[in-house]
Amino acid sequence: MADKILQKLSGVQKNVLLKDYTTYKIGGPAEYFFIAKTKEDLILTLKSAKDLKLPVFILGGGSNLLISDKGFKGLVIKINISRISLSGNKAFVGAGVDLTKLAYLSADRGLSGLEWATGIPGTVGGAIYGSAQAFGIKIADSVKSVEAINLKTLKLKSFTKKQCQFSLKNSIFKKNNTLRGTRNLVIVSAVLEFQNKDNNL
Ligand SMILES: Cc1cc2nc3c(=O)[nH]c(=O)nc-3n(C[C@H](O)[C@H](O)[C@H](O)COP(=O)(O)OP(=O)(O)OC[C@H]3O[C@@H](n4cnc5c(N)ncnc54)[C@H](O)[C@@H]3O)c2cc1C
Repeated sequence: MADKILQKLSGVQKNVLLKDYTTYKIGGPAEYFFIAKTKEDLILTLKSAKDLKLPVFILGGGSNLLISDKGFKGLVIKINISRISLSGNKAFVGAGVDLTKLAYLSADRGLSGLEWATGIPGTVGGAIYGSAQAFGIKIADSVKSVEAINLKTLKLKSFTKKQCQFSLKNSIFKKNNTLRGTRNLVIVSAVLEFQNKDNNL
Protein backbone atom coordinates (compact mmCIF):
# COMPACT_ATOMS: atom_id res chain seq x y z
CA MET A 1 0.00 0.00 0.00
CA ALA A 2 2.87 2.32 0.87
CA ASP A 3 4.23 2.30 -2.63
CA LYS A 4 0.78 2.64 -4.16
CA ILE A 5 0.20 6.11 -2.74
CA LEU A 6 3.72 7.25 -3.53
CA GLN A 7 3.22 5.99 -7.08
CA LYS A 8 -0.27 7.44 -7.38
CA LEU A 9 0.75 11.00 -6.67
CA SER A 10 4.05 12.68 -7.12
CA GLY A 11 4.61 15.14 -4.32
CA VAL A 12 3.56 12.82 -1.49
CA GLN A 13 6.45 12.47 0.95
CA LYS A 14 7.09 9.85 3.64
CA ASN A 15 7.93 10.33 7.33
CA VAL A 16 7.81 14.11 7.47
CA LEU A 17 8.24 15.65 10.90
CA LEU A 18 5.15 17.68 11.79
CA LYS A 19 7.07 19.81 14.29
CA ASP A 20 8.35 21.71 11.27
CA TYR A 21 4.76 22.70 10.42
CA THR A 22 3.41 23.74 13.83
CA THR A 23 3.77 27.04 15.68
CA TYR A 24 4.87 25.33 18.90
CA LYS A 25 7.40 23.20 16.99
CA ILE A 26 6.12 19.92 18.34
CA GLY A 27 4.80 16.82 16.58
CA GLY A 28 6.25 13.53 15.38
CA PRO A 29 6.25 12.16 11.83
CA ALA A 30 3.40 12.04 9.38
CA GLU A 31 3.50 8.64 7.68
CA TYR A 32 2.60 10.43 4.44
CA PHE A 33 2.61 14.18 3.87
CA PHE A 34 1.32 16.25 1.01
CA ILE A 35 1.22 20.00 0.41
CA ALA A 36 -1.90 20.88 -1.61
CA LYS A 37 -1.29 24.06 -3.59
CA THR A 38 -4.43 23.86 -5.72
CA LYS A 39 -7.98 22.61 -5.41
CA GLU A 40 -7.29 20.04 -8.13
CA ASP A 41 -4.23 18.68 -6.25
CA LEU A 42 -6.29 18.41 -3.12
CA ILE A 43 -9.16 16.53 -4.77
CA LEU A 44 -6.79 14.08 -6.49
CA THR A 45 -4.96 13.37 -3.25
CA LEU A 46 -8.16 12.92 -1.26
CA LYS A 47 -9.42 10.52 -3.91
CA SER A 48 -6.22 8.46 -3.69
CA ALA A 49 -6.40 8.44 0.10
CA LYS A 50 -10.01 7.27 -0.06
CA ASP A 51 -9.17 4.51 -2.55
CA LEU A 52 -6.33 3.36 -0.30
CA LYS A 53 -8.43 3.75 2.87
CA LEU A 54 -5.75 5.99 4.38
CA PRO A 55 -6.69 8.09 7.42
CA VAL A 56 -6.36 11.78 6.56
CA PHE A 57 -5.57 14.78 8.73
CA ILE A 58 -5.88 18.34 7.47
CA LEU A 59 -3.27 20.90 8.51
CA GLY A 60 -3.56 24.65 8.07
CA GLY A 61 -0.91 26.91 9.58
CA GLY A 62 -0.44 24.57 12.55
CA SER A 63 -1.00 27.38 15.08
CA ASN A 64 -3.81 25.71 17.02
CA LEU A 65 -2.50 22.18 17.22
CA LEU A 66 -0.59 20.10 19.74
CA ILE A 67 0.58 17.04 17.84
CA SER A 68 1.86 13.97 19.67
CA ASP A 69 5.49 12.86 19.34
CA LYS A 70 4.02 9.68 17.85
CA GLY A 71 2.94 11.73 14.86
CA PHE A 72 0.13 10.61 12.56
CA LYS A 73 -0.31 7.22 10.90
CA GLY A 74 -1.89 8.12 7.61
CA LEU A 75 -1.80 11.08 5.28
CA VAL A 76 -1.42 14.65 6.52
CA ILE A 77 -2.44 17.22 3.94
CA LYS A 78 -1.17 20.74 4.44
CA ILE A 79 -3.55 23.18 2.79
CA ASN A 80 -1.44 25.69 0.92
CA ILE A 81 -4.03 26.97 -1.56
CA SER A 82 -2.97 30.57 -1.42
CA ARG A 83 -4.74 32.33 -4.28
CA ILE A 84 -6.05 35.83 -3.40
CA SER A 85 -8.29 37.91 -5.64
CA LEU A 86 -9.76 41.21 -4.50
CA SER A 87 -12.72 42.64 -6.39
CA GLY A 88 -14.70 45.60 -5.08
CA ASN A 89 -15.24 44.95 -1.40
CA LYS A 90 -14.90 41.18 -1.72
CA ALA A 91 -11.92 38.85 -1.37
CA PHE A 92 -11.89 35.46 -3.06
CA VAL A 93 -9.29 33.48 -1.17
CA GLY A 94 -7.83 30.01 -0.97
CA ALA A 95 -8.06 28.25 2.40
CA GLY A 96 -4.27 28.34 2.77
CA VAL A 97 -4.02 32.13 2.65
CA ASP A 98 -2.22 33.57 5.66
CA LEU A 99 -4.80 35.46 7.73
CA THR A 100 -2.45 38.27 8.75
CA LYS A 101 -1.29 38.74 5.16
CA LEU A 102 -4.92 39.08 4.04
CA ALA A 103 -5.63 41.54 6.86
CA TYR A 104 -2.79 43.82 5.71
CA LEU A 105 -3.61 43.43 2.03
CA SER A 106 -7.28 44.32 2.50
CA ALA A 107 -6.39 47.30 4.74
CA ASP A 108 -4.00 48.57 2.04
CA ARG A 109 -6.93 48.55 -0.39
CA GLY A 110 -9.05 50.61 2.01
CA LEU A 111 -11.13 47.60 3.02
CA SER A 112 -12.12 47.29 6.66
CA GLY A 113 -13.09 44.10 8.48
CA LEU A 114 -9.98 42.10 9.30
CA GLU A 115 -8.05 44.60 11.45
CA TRP A 116 -8.58 42.35 14.48
CA ALA A 117 -6.75 39.51 12.72
CA THR A 118 -3.35 41.15 12.31
CA GLY A 119 -0.95 39.09 14.38
CA ILE A 120 -3.17 36.00 14.64
CA PRO A 121 -1.18 33.14 13.16
CA GLY A 122 -2.70 30.60 10.79
CA THR A 123 -4.68 30.33 7.61
CA VAL A 124 -8.10 31.50 6.47
CA GLY A 125 -9.26 27.83 6.48
CA GLY A 126 -8.11 27.30 10.07
CA ALA A 127 -9.76 30.56 11.15
CA ILE A 128 -13.09 29.55 9.58
CA TYR A 129 -12.87 26.03 11.02
CA GLY A 130 -12.38 27.32 14.57
CA SER A 131 -14.38 30.55 14.19
CA ALA A 132 -11.37 32.73 15.05
CA GLN A 133 -11.99 36.05 16.77
CA ALA A 134 -10.36 38.86 18.74
CA PHE A 135 -11.54 42.07 20.38
CA GLY A 136 -15.18 40.99 19.93
CA ILE A 137 -14.87 40.75 16.13
CA LYS A 138 -15.07 37.41 14.36
CA ILE A 139 -14.06 35.91 11.04
CA ALA A 140 -17.77 35.09 10.69
CA ASP A 141 -18.50 38.82 10.45
CA SER A 142 -16.68 38.90 7.09
CA VAL A 143 -17.63 35.50 5.66
CA LYS A 144 -20.00 35.54 2.70
CA SER A 145 -19.55 31.90 1.64
CA VAL A 146 -17.21 28.94 2.09
CA GLU A 147 -16.41 26.17 -0.36
CA ALA A 148 -15.59 22.76 1.13
CA ILE A 149 -15.06 19.18 -0.01
CA ASN A 150 -16.99 16.40 1.63
CA LEU A 151 -14.50 13.62 2.34
CA LYS A 152 -17.13 10.89 2.03
CA THR A 153 -18.46 11.91 -1.36
CA LEU A 154 -15.51 14.03 -2.57
CA LYS A 155 -18.09 16.55 -3.76
CA LEU A 156 -17.57 20.30 -3.48
CA LYS A 157 -20.26 22.37 -1.81
CA SER A 158 -20.65 26.09 -1.25
CA PHE A 159 -21.88 27.00 2.25
CA THR A 160 -23.61 30.31 2.89
CA LYS A 161 -22.59 32.12 6.07
CA LYS A 162 -25.76 30.79 7.73
CA GLN A 163 -24.96 27.22 6.68
CA CYS A 164 -21.49 27.59 8.25
CA GLN A 165 -23.27 27.60 11.66
CA PHE A 166 -20.69 29.85 13.29
CA SER A 167 -20.77 30.07 17.08
CA LEU A 168 -18.16 30.61 19.79
CA LYS A 169 -15.01 28.78 18.57
CA ASN A 170 -17.19 26.53 16.44
CA SER A 171 -18.54 26.01 12.94
CA ILE A 172 -20.16 23.25 10.89
CA PHE A 173 -16.65 22.33 9.72
CA LYS A 174 -15.55 21.64 13.30
CA LYS A 175 -18.83 20.03 14.34
CA ASN A 176 -18.83 17.63 11.45
CA ASN A 177 -17.59 14.41 12.87
CA THR A 178 -14.68 12.20 12.11
CA LEU A 179 -14.22 9.84 9.23
CA ARG A 180 -11.18 7.59 9.72
CA GLY A 181 -9.56 10.13 11.98
CA THR A 182 -10.32 13.30 10.12
CA ARG A 183 -13.16 15.74 9.66
CA ASN A 184 -15.71 15.24 6.94
CA LEU A 185 -15.37 18.69 5.43
CA VAL A 186 -12.20 20.23 4.07
CA ILE A 187 -12.34 23.97 3.50
CA VAL A 188 -10.98 24.88 0.07
CA SER A 189 -11.77 28.56 -0.38
CA ALA A 190 -13.92 31.40 0.89
CA VAL A 191 -15.49 34.67 -0.17
CA LEU A 192 -15.06 37.41 2.42
CA GLU A 193 -16.86 40.73 2.32
CA PHE A 194 -15.47 43.96 3.79
CA GLN A 195 -16.54 47.57 4.24
CA ASN A 196 -15.07 50.24 2.00
CA LYS A 197 -13.17 52.82 4.07
CA ASP A 198 -11.01 55.69 2.98
CA ASN A 199 -7.46 54.49 3.65
CA ASN A 200 -6.10 58.04 3.33
CA LEU A 201 -7.73 59.21 6.56
C1 LIG B 1 0.33 33.35 19.54
C2 LIG B 1 -1.06 32.89 19.16
C3 LIG B 1 -2.10 33.79 19.25
C4 LIG B 1 -3.40 33.42 18.89
N1 LIG B 1 -4.42 34.32 19.00
C5 LIG B 1 -5.69 33.96 18.65
C6 LIG B 1 -6.77 34.90 18.74
O1 LIG B 1 -6.61 36.07 19.14
N2 LIG B 1 -8.01 34.48 18.36
C7 LIG B 1 -8.22 33.21 17.90
O2 LIG B 1 -9.37 32.90 17.52
N3 LIG B 1 -7.22 32.29 17.84
C8 LIG B 1 -5.96 32.63 18.18
N4 LIG B 1 -4.94 31.70 18.12
C9 LIG B 1 -5.22 30.33 17.68
C10 LIG B 1 -4.97 30.09 16.18
O3 LIG B 1 -4.11 31.06 15.63
C11 LIG B 1 -6.29 30.13 15.40
O4 LIG B 1 -7.13 29.14 15.91
C12 LIG B 1 -6.07 29.91 13.89
O5 LIG B 1 -7.26 30.33 13.25
C13 LIG B 1 -5.78 28.45 13.52
O6 LIG B 1 -5.54 28.41 12.12
P1 LIG B 1 -4.47 27.38 11.49
O7 LIG B 1 -4.52 27.54 10.02
O8 LIG B 1 -3.15 27.53 12.13
O9 LIG B 1 -5.12 25.98 11.89
P2 LIG B 1 -4.35 24.65 12.36
O10 LIG B 1 -3.73 24.88 13.70
O11 LIG B 1 -3.49 24.14 11.28
O12 LIG B 1 -5.60 23.66 12.51
C14 LIG B 1 -6.57 23.85 13.54
C15 LIG B 1 -7.76 22.93 13.21
O13 LIG B 1 -8.37 23.40 12.01
C16 LIG B 1 -8.47 22.34 11.05
N5 LIG B 1 -8.26 22.92 9.73
C17 LIG B 1 -7.28 23.79 9.34
N6 LIG B 1 -7.43 24.13 8.05
C18 LIG B 1 -8.53 23.48 7.61
C19 LIG B 1 -9.20 23.40 6.35
N7 LIG B 1 -8.77 24.07 5.26
N8 LIG B 1 -10.31 22.61 6.26
C20 LIG B 1 -10.75 21.91 7.34
N9 LIG B 1 -10.17 21.94 8.55
C21 LIG B 1 -9.06 22.70 8.68
C22 LIG B 1 -7.35 21.36 11.43
O14 LIG B 1 -7.65 20.03 11.01
C23 LIG B 1 -7.35 21.48 12.95
O15 LIG B 1 -8.33 20.64 13.52
C24 LIG B 1 -3.64 32.08 18.46
C25 LIG B 1 -2.57 31.17 18.37
C26 LIG B 1 -1.29 31.57 18.72
C27 LIG B 1 -0.16 30.58 18.60
